[in-house]
This record gives sequence, C-alpha cells and structure tokens, in this order.
Amino acid sequence: MKFEGIDIQRAMVVYAHPDDAEFGVAGTVAKWARAGVEVTYCMVTNGASGSDDPAMTREKLRDVRYAEQRAAAKILGVKDCVFLGYEDGYLYPTLEVRRDVARQIRIHRPDVLMTMDPTMRIAEDFYVNHPDHIAAGEVALRSINPDASTRQMFPELWNDEHLEPHKPKALFLAAFGGSGTVVDISDVLELKVKALRAHTSQLGPEAEEMVRDWAKRTGKPAGYKAGEAFRIVHLEEPEAPEKPARPQRKKRRAPTARPRRSTAAERTRRRRGGNSR
Ligand SMILES: [Zn+2]
Repeated sequence: MKFEGIDIQRAMVVYAHPDDAEFGVAGTVAKWARAGVEVTYCMVTNGASGSDDPAMTREKLRDVRYAEQRAAAKILGVKDCVFLGYEDGYLYPTLEVRRDVARQIRIHRPDVLMTMDPTMRIAEDFYVNHPDHIAAGEVALRSINPDASTRQMFPELWNDEHLEPHKPKALFLAAFGGSGTVVDISDVLELKVKALRAHTSQLGPEAEEMVRDWAKRTGKPAGYKAGEAFRIVHLEEPEAPEKPARPQRKKRRAPTARPRRSTAAERTRRRRGGNSR
C-alpha cells in the first residue's frame, strides 16, 4: 500500500498504555490493515495504574488491560500485540526500555513507525500530557536514531540475538489539534469506535463522543467526514536533495562539512549492508 509516496507493508505502533492507540491512531491502523499492511502494536507499559477502584489491584488490572488491548487489536486487524510490561505511570526512557523497543523494531522491521510526539507537553490549554506518553514517544524517536538503526548500539541485539539494524522509511507522529497530514478515516470510524469500546475498564460515557468529535474536527479542513492527523517525518529520501543545496559549504567550511558527508555515506553503506542480508 502507498501513502504519501511511502510504500508500506509493515507498520509498528509504539505507545505507552493499552487504549492509547485506540484513542489516537486506530482509524489509520484499521484502514491500513484492511489494505494488507501488517500492523504490530508495541505497548510499553502494563496499564496497571488505570483504575480508581479501591478493590482493584495492579495485577488484576494489568490482565484486564492486556485482554482489552488484544480484543481491540483483533477488531482492527492488528497482526501482533507486544506488551513490554513496564509499570504504568513509572516510565522513563531508560537504556533498558530503549533496548526493548529497539529489539521489537529489529524483529518486526516496520516501514512506518507511529507514536506520540514527545515534545507535546500541554495540548490546547486543557490537557497535560501523561509522562508515560512522553517517555514512550521519546524512546520511539531514539529507536530511529540511533537505537534500532545503528549496528553498534546495543550490540547484543545483533551479536547474541542475530537482529540486524533497521530504520523505518517514515515516522508518523500523531498530531494533536488537527495540524499535519490528515488520513481519511471516514469509512473505518465505526471500527475505531468499536475497538475503543473494547477498553471497558477505561471508558467514561463521554469517551465515544469525544473520539467522534476529534475525528470530525480533524477531518474537516481536509474535506473528510473523519480524520486522524500526523506529522510525517520522511527518513528515506533526505540525502539526494541535500547535495545541490549546499555547494558553497565545501569551499568555506570544509572541516564542518566533512562529518556530514561521511555520516550520509555511512548511512548509505549501512542500508545496503542491511538489505543484502
Ligand atoms: Zn495513555
């Protein structure tokens, strides 16, 4: 399947909590899965903080939330659901988390990585972003550069587990407030809502209406009945246009230009090496 010039066969969604993907990107996931894209969910935490019920325990809630996430994924046509099992509410982008996410990217080799923008701290003057969301987004970004893509990062993944480095073709950052590239989810909105409903332990009566309203507002500027918006970072094609754009640098600032050029060459070599194995 092609979207925005990107040939997409596999996609991975990295989020902090079971239900984050259904609130955020499930329409796009459903649409792509329908088109034959193999989608993998990578949920970094266990969702065990998501209850105000004094009779609930973290252990019980973890199991409930894994089951809810699996049910939602099934509705959407997600191929694989990976739970890294970090404690909900306690997440930091530690080396351990980074290695675990990099491992999944090297195993599943997505063309597109979807996550939440970790620079988003406060949205629209009414929402303070959950620190786990920020941490998971941060880890996802670090997986692009350098954790999953660089051979000598976490060399045990390559040496011991035989997982070759991998860099996705594009990063899709779910955008709050409707700016960015809008995906038309009109024909899968009901599927998104159905998948959201699978998270029964988490939903108040307002959740469904809220998601419908977001979708409507996001789709409107693009002329769609419902949409999801992304900031798309293209990771595959930056090298070619760079060359003619900087002819003067060679003459004046050769010492600073050199590391850039060798980095680009290194990247090309790495990609070739990765593809041939
Ligand atoms: Zn969340």
